[in-house]
Amino acid sequence: MSLNSIRPWRNIYRRKSRKIYVGNVPVGGDSPISVQTMTNTLTHDVSATVNQINSCADAGADMVRVSCPDIASTKAMHEIVKESQVPLIADIHFHYKRAIEAAEAGAACLRINPGNIGSSERIKEVIKAAKDHGCSIRIGVNGGSLEKQLLDKYGEPCPDAMIESGLNHIRILEENDFQNYKISVKASDVFMSAAAYQGLAEATDAPIHLGITEAGGLTSGTIKSAIGLGNLLWMGIGDTLRVSLSADPVEEVKVGFEILKSLGLRHRGVNIISCPSCARQGFDVIKTVSELEKKLEHIKTPMSLSIIGCVVNGPGEALMTDVGFTGGGAGSGMVYWAGKQDHKIENEKMVDHIVKLVEKRSKEIDQEK
Ligand code: SF4
Repeated sequence: MSLNSIRPWRNIYRRKSRKIYVGNVPVGGDSPISVQTMTNTLTHDVSATVNQINSCADAGADMVRVSCPDIASTKAMHEIVKESQVPLIADIHFHYKRAIEAAEAGAACLRINPGNIGSSERIKEVIKAAKDHGCSIRIGVNGGSLEKQLLDKYGEPCPDAMIESGLNHIRILEENDFQNYKISVKASDVFMSAAAYQGLAEATDAPIHLGITEAGGLTSGTIKSAIGLGNLLWMGIGDTLRVSLSADPVEEVKVGFEILKSLGLRHRGVNIISCPSCARQGFDVIKTVSELEKKLEHIKTPMSLSIIGCVVNGPGEALMTDVGFTGGGAGSGMVYWAGKQDHKIENEKMVDHIVKLVEKRSKEIDQEK
């Protein structure tokens, strides 16, 4: 029985959207909310780009976007697609030929706005290439690059202008009998993004790609994204997301997952419950948690681990986790297994011991599935 069915206050109503596919990854409908990121290597540097894509995939990315600004990039995509562990989205800005080349190279999705391609013949060529090669399209409206006529009409970037822009691009695809698309309306301003996404969610049943664009550095961007995306996800809006940080793309993936995990929308890896520590701590909580986070990165099985400094909160938290450790006195603490006190272990040996226990428990959980 899932937690949601016995604890209704955990339920999040999810907007009903159409389901599309990016390669083999479903997006929309009742599919898991997918996490994506974008490479920042030079795309024509195949080995650097493949390495970064696959590091992101190892961190949990369901798909990765790759810039294709020139022919060298779309040529490189042939090789990159073959070596990538996940479907790739080719990021095209204006040039319709790059879109066609990327589709031919095996991109699973094109990030391109049909209204920016140019003539209707060019639009038709791109849509034909997408259809021929099974590519989806992501319409990406950005508050910072709205069409001039919309800026003239609305006076400044605003949610209504972003929604109108998105619906205009949708209309072009629909007029060309193309429904295999998703859409984003990103802005760097959390309020503008949230209002645009809410309006968009009412205006279309297309799958929605969430993002707060140019959110900032690791800490500030994480918080901004957690507030903006968290608020939308809590309202049931969003089928896939990218957290945009001025940081390693792997960090974007980790943050994306943490947002989804916090809302119970995805489960992956070890959820560490740890206290902030204080003078009562029986061991160095902060150092221990930092070590455990690194040493448990390889665990993909959803499970929980409590690392609590003392008995004030330790036994209570351990009751609800797969594995737990609570600091005691005299250089040792209590290990909990499946919520029950199990044995003592010295603080010095605790990290490696807990890693082994988590590995053991993750295997058991996998076998129980
Ligand atoms: S659980 Fe104990 S060590 Fe941790 S913050 Fe609370 S009182 Fe301090």
